[in-house]
Amino acid sequence: MPDFDLAVIGAGPGGYVAALRAAQAGMRVACIDERSTAGGTCLNVGCIPSKALLSSTEHWAGLKSLADQGIETEAARFDLSRMMARKDKVVSDLTKGIAFLFKKAGVEFIQGRASIAAPGRVTVGEREISARHILIATGSAPAALPNVPFDEKLVLSSTGALSLGKVPDRLVVVGAGVIGLEIGQIWSRLGAKVTVVEYLDRILPGIDGELARNAQRILARQGIGFTLNAAVKTIARDGEAASVEIETRGSGELETLAADAVLVAIGRRPHTAGLGLEALGVRQDARGFVEVDAQFRTSVPGVLAIGDVVPGPMLAHKAEEDAAACIDALAGKAHGAPDYRLVPGVVYTAPEIAGVGLTEDDAGTSGRAFLVGKASFLANGRARAIGATDGFAKVIACAETGRLLGAHILGHGAGELLQELVLGLRLGTTLAEIAGTSHPHPGMGEAVKEACVAALSSAAT
Ligand code: FAD
Repeated sequence: MPDFDLAVIGAGPGGYVAALRAAQAGMRVACIDERSTAGGTCLNVGCIPSKALLSSTEHWAGLKSLADQGIETEAARFDLSRMMARKDKVVSDLTKGIAFLFKKAGVEFIQGRASIAAPGRVTVGEREISARHILIATGSAPAALPNVPFDEKLVLSSTGALSLGKVPDRLVVVGAGVIGLEIGQIWSRLGAKVTVVEYLDRILPGIDGELARNAQRILARQGIGFTLNAAVKTIARDGEAASVEIETRGSGELETLAADAVLVAIGRRPHTAGLGLEALGVRQDARGFVEVDAQFRTSVPGVLAIGDVVPGPMLAHKAEEDAAACIDALAGKAHGAPDYRLVPGVVYTAPEIAGVGLTEDDAGTSGRAFLVGKASFLANGRARAIGATDGFAKVIACAETGRLLGAHILGHGAGELLQELVLGLRLGTTLAEIAGTSHPHPGMGEAVKEACVAALSSAAT
């Protein structure tokens, strides 16, 4: 009999959720990770530490506006080492929580780098374990620019940029995606002069264009500089400083930006190095993602894969959905393959930027008749009361049926506000149903209802 029913490689949101679910279904489970703590990228160096620092720095940045409310804060100062220590504690409390859940469920956590010796056999250092099924949940790693390796001092990945010991005077962020903007805002709030360099002519590719344009305007007003349409040619290190040479696309004009640190946030690559997938015959696509079917089975029987290492949105909650569907299928329970069109995306800057489903740009090119409704937070009582009037809620619906097709919100708490629309999208809810639902007053959520009302009235005109 094999040592385990399931060996999970990787203890991120995909791997640990899968391990727990499998153990709850009665399987004997091992979960292996090269990190000493469970939680993967998300808990250790991703979602959680970034949100902890965004929260601390939002408090700090918010102090400036408190004088308007009659609150004097002139003597306030920040202590970066304590801010980092709090971030580390938030992380360690959560990773300990997973260790506790593993223990309670009987999942054996094995620390070490794993490779798959053969179907059913996993090597971790000196140890070899056998398992009926192997689940690859090895996630992703930050992509570097060609010939510019991360040194985590001058040229930073997100991991280094979330643990700096001092505030850089000048931070160049390469890539105006989610990670670049969130981390850029953290250091900008603490006093760094932040310049975001982006190859495309817009920030946040994939997000509704109108939201992205408005978000860029607001972030620029907060002091973040943007250089769009620019390709990074070289990053040269010179002692304690770096210079970033950029070329404007089209004109070919060259410019050099001086920096005390450069965050390279140009995306993430599936993490499969050293797993032995080629020798095993596990098929990967041209970008290195592991190919799977609707039940997350790879091309090799007995080997499964989920999360960032397989195609789809590279998000923690998507990895969790994959985990649930994969383990339910393995346990012979009815399952539905996750519908990635229903996976919401949130950028946790202030204001937040959140979206699900079709963007207005997608709807425009789809050839179908659609309705759009918007409501600004400027006209929202709660937004006025808390001083959070930036942004708007936007809904997109089928002109024929009124059913929701997409929803996008820029504003305070947008990620939480979006959730009713994510459920609405999943259930095939119509604009009239949301517009006819009572929303608490005064609440930011009233803008969601108002956006639906606006879309309905646009149909009537
Ligand atoms: P991972 O979390 O990457 O876990 C994989 C684990 O496998 C790692 O711990 C790794 O050490 C281990 N591993 C890899 N290879 C081996 C091996 N051979 N042997 C042993 N162990 C191995 N997503 C969101 O949804 N919301 C956010 O706000 C958000 N913020 C982010 C902020 C940052 C800065 C970053 C970097 C990412 C963020 N993400 C966010 C993305 C999110 O972290 C990932 O989508 C998620 O962690 C993917 O989960 P996973 O389980 O597939 O892989």
